[in-house]
Amino acid sequence: AGGGGRFDSPGKGRGLRVTRGFAVGELVLCSPAYSFVLSGEERGSRCEFCFTKKEKLARCGKCKKASYCNAKCQKGDWAMHKLECSAMMAFKENWCPSEISRLVARILAKKKERCVSEKILLIDDIQSHVEDVDNEKRERNEAEVAGLHRFFSKHLEFPDHKDLLALISQVACNGFTIEDDELSHLGTALYPDVALINHSCLPSAIVTYDGTAAQVRAVRNMEPGDEVLISYIDLMYPTDDRNNRLRESYYFTCDCRDCKSKSGDKAKLRVRKRSDPVEPQAIGNMVRYARKTVREFRAVKHIKNILELLEMCEQSLEEMGSIFEDANVYMVHVMYQAMGVCLYMEDPEGALRYGEKIIKHYR
Ligand SMILES: [Zn+2]
Ligand SMILES: [Zn+2]
Ligand SMILES: [Zn+2]
Repeated sequence: AGGGGRFDSPGKGRGLRVTRGFAVGELVLCSPAYSFVLSGEERGSRCEFCFTKKEKLARCGKCKKASYCNAKCQKGDWAMHKLECSAMMAFKENWCPSEISRLVARILAKKKERCVSEKILLIDDIQSHVEDVDNEKRERNEAEVAGLHRFFSKHLEFPDHKDLLALISQVACNGFTIEDDELSHLGTALYPDVALINHSCLPSAIVTYDGTAAQVRAVRNMEPGDEVLISYIDLMYPTDDRNNRLRESYYFTCDCRDCKSKSGDKAKLRVRKRSDPVEPQAIGNMVRYARKTVREFRAVKHIKNILELLEMCEQSLEEMGSIFEDANVYMVHVMYQAMGVCLYMEDPEGALRYGEKIIKHYR
């Protein structure tokens, strides 16, 4: 579909707008990936080239790791898979490049030709925000550079250090996570034309995936000239959380109608109704506690043992439950984590108990 064009969006830099009208559900833009990579967890259950999930996939005869639908997919993928095929065999159990570095290696391996996914925006034009990167991110990017040199040096000629850092920063900031219908993570890809689309918490479009291609579909009716806007983040959270996330990952603050009015926050931060109303200060304190809990849980999720994690969830639910209703987003967030812990512990009754509570408020 070719109903979009690049333009200068007031206050947002460049953006994408439609040149004709679109109705809800209509396909605004379809973009093949400039470069993509199947996540390591999906290796073996999906075709590395087209991401199709199948029982009987054929394995690469050399590494016995990469899987394909057929010889055609294998052939199509070879230019990229050869970056990893012999290296995986050489590194054996020490093969552990990050998904970002695997994608960057593929981008470097591609010829610098204008590609079909770059009709509107060239890959080199994508914003890198190198000057905005803080120390923590710089360290992470340096680690990615080291990983690239460690795992891919045999097949690639690297640009100088500064350019490589810029590319990694570009990919970190503009990479899209490919998800299936159940929102499980399948891989990462770069779509230069889709990266042109700006964010709004009141989006006019969403991105879905068909294999490795991105599809931008209207979720609101659009008039000719309207800007195409997608959400970069989970919109379940209140305004301040959303903007913290946007600043952290994308280096801007949103000024959409929802962010200006904060009108959705009250429904998201549902507070218990009591005969003596809860003081605003107590609510503020509990919001801070909730944010801290969410952050802490994320930090220790892969470190603490499963019983400690469950206890963390239960404790914070009890604490927050003194002020928040079950439908409060922080309550839902923690209940969702607790459900995951129960599933991991093979405690279906526990998982169901949390699951039912969550569903009750999202029907
Ligand atoms: Zn395939
Ligand atoms: Zn192979
Ligand atoms: Zn907003």
